[in-house]
Amino acid sequence: MTDSLISSAYSQALEVIAAVEPRIAEATRQELADQRSSLKLIASENYASPAVLMTMGTWFSDKYAEGTVGHRFYAGCQNVDTVETLAAEHARELFGAPYAYVQPHSGIDANLVAFWSILANKVESPYLARMQAKNVNELSEADWETLRHEFGNQRLLGMSLDAGGHLTHGFRPNISGKMFHQQQYGTDPETGLLDYGAVAAKAREFKPLVLVAGYSAYPRRVNFAKMREIADEVGAVLMVDMAHFAGLVAGKVFTGEEDPVPYAHLTTTTTHKSLRGPRGGMVLAQEEFAADVDRGCPMVLGGPLSHVMAAKAVAFAEARQPSFQTYAQKVADNAKSLAEGFLTRGANLVTGGTDNHLVLLDVSSFGLTGRQAESALLDAGVVTNRNSVPADPNGAWYTSGVRLGTPALTTRGFGHEEFDTVAELIVDVLSNTEAGTTKAGGPSKASYVLGDGVADRVTKQSAEMLDKHPLYPGLVLS
Ligand SMILES: *Cc1c(COP(=O)(O)O)cnc(C)c1O
Repeated sequence: MTDSLISSAYSQALEVIAAVEPRIAEATRQELADQRSSLKLIASENYASPAVLMTMGTWFSDKYAEGTVGHRFYAGCQNVDTVETLAAEHARELFGAPYAYVQPHSGIDANLVAFWSILANKVESPYLARMQAKNVNELSEADWETLRHEFGNQRLLGMSLDAGGHLTHGFRPNISGKMFHQQQYGTDPETGLLDYGAVAAKAREFKPLVLVAGYSAYPRRVNFAKMREIADEVGAVLMVDMAHFAGLVAGKVFTGEEDPVPYAHLTTTTTHKSLRGPRGGMVLAQEEFAADVDRGCPMVLGGPLSHVMAAKAVAFAEARQPSFQTYAQKVADNAKSLAEGFLTRGANLVTGGTDNHLVLLDVSSFGLTGRQAESALLDAGVVTNRNSVPADPNGAWYTSGVRLGTPALTTRGFGHEEFDTVAELIVDVLSNTEAGTTKAGGPSKASYVLGDGVADRVTKQSAEMLDKHPLYPGLVLS
């Protein structure tokens, strides 16, 4: 019943789209075909349910609703209020958070909201108080300069990009590295693991206003109680960005000191990664910060994406089902199977393994850069992304690593055996790929030569697994 409803709904929607711009309808069909036929190992991607996807395609997209529930700058927001209230309520229940702000359009937006909330809450600025009473349009350039001075030079300590941190955690070229005076903590050069003693020492010396924890490419769990202790000792606000692992928190794989929500003053996240919701962001906060976070709009946001907030509510309702906990546990178990698959075949993993949803494969032992490995794998239908390893000799563009995550294929139903085969296929590709040469004949970090027949062999083996675990099994487009 549901299958045929979904099939006819999407088939008809594509017909409606094709009547206006057939090339977009065609690209949409092709995207489904491509996602169905490739081995998606990108650690930040997933497959949302048809209910979540469909919720995004409605007239809620047409409604402006700047402000907060019951306090909007536009008329006629009663249904958006229902949506936002439900999304926030599900989020608070799901994560046990005192307060949830579901308006951010993305993970980066969520982090900007959190940063400005911390500044507004913690930085004493008589000038800011005066400014808030004024019409912003009347501020002169000199006013802005004073404000920048009073707000500026606040300190932020975050995890470095090559240790697995995110751009928004103080990386120089990102706004977070410009609006804050930033320093970074890394991982232990021997073990690749977070060294809490070293983080504490750096925090004592640097005395940051904001301590950021969380990562995009660190294959281990973090003890957030320890991070909070460090923050408390130096009087910092602890902000945890759980964009990557929110699904493991929601699914109760990370509990106790591994659950950031009770320990962080503010927890930010995306909703589309392991959490398997629509593309978007969210901020969870302790009461102390709620009023500041609530001013996300107009502070850094404009109108919320009401259709996406609706889809967040649907996704959170799904994540509150017991089946989501089973899913999250499988995501972590499968990452272990993938890691074991590599280790038994002699490959090197950063930190020697994983205890979350991702592994970071160091491809230098294959004589390749991350860029070459990523391209060769793609030729064989294996979709990954290259990633720096700690102290990467090849820098952030070519890199020496490939990051692989299990959330997406776990949604398709892959288990232990399949992930062992995935490791086998990847090792097959990489050990049959040679680094190429530049036009001048020197070693190239980009070009590569994939051995004859390897792509065909690997594509055939992955097709067998993909056929056994189809994406959206009941969905047939006419
Ligand atoms: C993905 C990610 C983000 C950014 O999310 P977008 O929705 O792409 O803006 C922020 N922080 C971390 C840790 C992430 O992994």
